[in-house]
Amino acid sequence: MNPNIDNDLEALSKKLYLESPDLWIEFLDKVGEKVIDEMVLFFAIKYNFPSIVKFAIDNKKLILDNPSKNTTYTSIRSHLIATCKQYNCLECIALLSSSTKDSLPIHSDKPTNENLENNISIPTLICENCKSNIFNVGYRVIGESIYKFSNSENKLIEVKNPNPQEVICGNCNKVLPNTTRDKVENICKIQGCNSCGMDLTKVGILDTSKLEFDENNNSFILKSTQYSCGNCNNSIGEKQKDYFNL
Ligand SMILES: [Zn+2]
Ligand SMILES: [Zn+2]
Repeated sequence: MNPNIDNDLEALSKKLYLESPDLWIEFLDKVGEKVIDEMVLFFAIKYNFPSIVKFAIDNKKLILDNPSKNTTYTSIRSHLIATCKQYNCLECIALLSSSTKDSLPIHSDKPTNENLENNISIPTLICENCKSNIFNVGYRVIGESIYKFSNSENKLIEVKNPNPQEVICGNCNKVLPNTTRDKVENICKIQGCNSCGMDLTKVGILDTSKLEFDENNNSFILKSTQYSCGNCNNSIGEKQKDYFNL
């Protein structure tokens, strides 16, 4: 491996030795065989060595979208991003998230060329846990009904659900906070804000004009106009501009 990484791995190894001699031996075995896997990256994140994470990603030492050994997570990537949050390693979150966009364009929340040509703006609702756009990876809605057995009626009865319509990320299976099926569906509607889902005809559209000073005329001239949601200030899509004749 390259000398800088060797130094960082050695520094990390010293930290690990203090934490657990057993883990340290396992770590040395892996690094000795030039293996940088999920476990090595877990500790690289825990002890804040972004250089090791970057090296592993740049040199394709592992496939981040393979299943995680930690069964709480669906992929190595989602496990490591959760680890970054736990240990507040923001640099590593950026590394792990940006590599998603390079290797898996479907996770990208930027419109692809094809979409630009068709003048479509993909709605975006990012799962906070795995950073996927649920409109790309899919989502499930659960909890519409809860059934209990009623002794008095001697049959199953439907009871009111305290958490109706929770939306679950199709990639990592985590619940999206403050998100209902109505919100997700409204985001996809032409009249709905593509960020908060509020009906633009109800919350209004903010019209922000930028004026630039023109030295020749010694006055301000209109440079550009931006339209955004009256509720959350997110820019509205091109298709919506057409729809509302803006
Ligand atoms: Zn997710
Ligand atoms: Zn909005």
